This record gives sequence, C-alpha cells and structure tokens, in this order.
Amino acid sequence: MPGSRESMRTKCYYCDCQAIARVRYAKLSLRKSHLVEFVESRVEKAVRRYNMVKRGDKVVVAVSGGKDSVALLYIADSLAKRMEFDYIVLHIDLGIGEYSEKSRVTVEKHCRSLGADCIIIDLRRDLGFTLPDLISRLKTRRACSLCGAVKRYIMNATALGIKASSVATAHHADDMLVYLFKNFITQDYEALGKLSPVNRSIDDIVATKIKPMYEVYEKDIASYVVARGLEFTDAKCPFENMRGLELSIRRFLEEIEDKMPGMKIAILRRFAETSSQLRLWERRADISRCESCGLISRGAECTFCKVTRRAYGQPMGPLVREVIKSKYVW
Ligand code: SF4
Ligand code: ZN
Repeated sequence: MPGSRESMRTKCYYCDCQAIARVRYAKLSLRKSHLVEFVESRVEKAVRRYNMVKRGDKVVVAVSGGKDSVALLYIADSLAKRMEFDYIVLHIDLGIGEYSEKSRVTVEKHCRSLGADCIIIDLRRDLGFTLPDLISRLKTRRACSLCGAVKRYIMNATALGIKASSVATAHHADDMLVYLFKNFITQDYEALGKLSPVNRSIDDIVATKIKPMYEVYEKDIASYVVARGLEFTDAKCPFENMRGLELSIRRFLEEIEDKMPGMKIAILRRFAETSSQLRLWERRADISRCESCGLISRGAECTFCKVTRRAYGQPMGPLVREVIKSKYVW
C-alpha cells in the first residue's frame, strides 16, 4: 500500500526508484508512473479480452465522484485516445444532501480538467424528487437496492436515448466477486447473469453494459488514484450499510487471495467464460418490455416505474426518457 513501511524500503521492479505499491499477484513493486501504467494496461487488456469497445464506439462513462469511478474516468480518457472511441460522462445527482453536492462538484471539476462532455441528471430538478424522499415515501430499509434500481434505470435510458454503444461502470474485481458469491449463495441465477464483464444490448430495451475494471482489484485502484493525485468524494452516503453477508464474503475472499495471490481474478475469468457459454444474460427468462416506459422489465412494469408509481402516483420512466430526449444529443 502507498506509504506502508514495506513499500518505503522497496525499489520499483522496473527502475531504481522507490516503489509506492506492491501488486502481490503480479509479484511487482512499482513506483508511481509504473503503477499508473500497470493499472491502465490491466484495464486495456480486459477491454480487449472481452471485446468491450471497438473503434468509433460512443461510450457513456458513469461517474459518481467516488474513487473507483474517478479512476475509471481517467482510464477511459486515456484508452479513448489509444483505442479511438468517444466517451461522454454521466453523473446522477441523487439529491442526498452534502454527499450529492460534493460528488457533483468533484465530477464537474474532473470533466472540466479533461475537457470531457458531461450529462447530469439531477433527480430534484429533472424529475421533481430526491432519493431520500423516495426512500421515505416507500418506507423502505433497503435504500441501496432502491438507489441501484434508480441509477441502473437512468444509465440505461440515457445510453438508449443518446444512441450510445454502451455504458461503462466502475465495478471492480472485488465488487464483482461479492455479488457473484452472494447471488450464488442465495441461488439467484437471474442476478448472476448480470455479472459478466459485458452484457450485450437486447433490442431497444436495454443498452450494452461494460465493466472495464472487471479484473482490477480495489486496492490497486486506490493506489492508482493516489499515484495520479486525483481528487475524489470522501463524503459518506448516509444510507451506506454493508450487510453481514457481504462483509463475510469479502473476508473469506481476502483469506483465499492471501494464500493464493491472483485467485480472485482466476475465479472471475472462469465465471466470465461460463456465463458466456451458458448465455446467462441473454437467456434470462424474465426479460420483457415495461408497459409504461417501454424499457426492460421483469413482468408488466419495470422496477423504476413501479416504485415511482407507488411513491408519486404515476410511473416516472416516461419522464426520464423525455428529459433525456429533449436535452441531450450526441
Ligand atoms: Fe446509493 Fe447506497 Fe451508494 Fe448511497 S450508499 S449512493 S444509497 S447505493
Ligand atoms: Zn418502466
């Protein structure tokens, strides 16, 4: 880890400079610039391995302002030049007080400094509600599941609305493994289908989703952000609450990785292979078209339309689609 005693004493694998990070599974100690190159090249290899992007593509990069998505933004910016694709940033302002304000300022600042175009969907301004309001009207204790559904809906609607090739999210290897084990334990095979590095579009109801950091560990992303001196939101979302099962899975995976460095990536690669052979995503039995907004749903109405109907008396999916259509062209 940056600044640890071990790293202070160690030289970079590639030169005589002092290393700032140790990547155990690759048996490398790296100085700042080599660590940056290492992480970027890992992402590029995964993007190529899983055919996430091709030349001329238009990619929506979802950026919340946290460290993972800020890293994704900078990596996407550098890959876009090398691999000749375009990207546009999408930030969703959830209206969660100080947390959302700081997140938005961070994203806007990075977009300015990179000269990147940015779409901001502001729940309060564009849809007339905020996430905390939605949570309290629905009286739900599962704030993060609801938030996830809102964000997924907006990402999908945005990508389809501006005719982008795909949406890139900042899920990294550690995130993916937790979801993978959790869904396996709960035997949720529908959800497992969503965990591939790439989920291809289906008709005009769901856009292609890509996870460029699928094979990068969270620890290496943290080192990348520190090495590049990138500012990110450190404000904590008041709804954040990692559940017991998720924490136990993380600890279990760390133990495995400690004994067998690189095992977490091996598991993910094997899963990517299996899910593509079994076509877990495309063959999901629950895919249909929401009768309110026309996008992907499980059953007659999609989750977003269902929850907004329950909270505000009408499905808000059509409004989201209208906002995107009227405001953004790419
Ligand atoms: Fe949404 Fe939960 Fe993240 Fe807060 S912690 S932004 S509620 S997913
Ligand atoms: Zn809908």
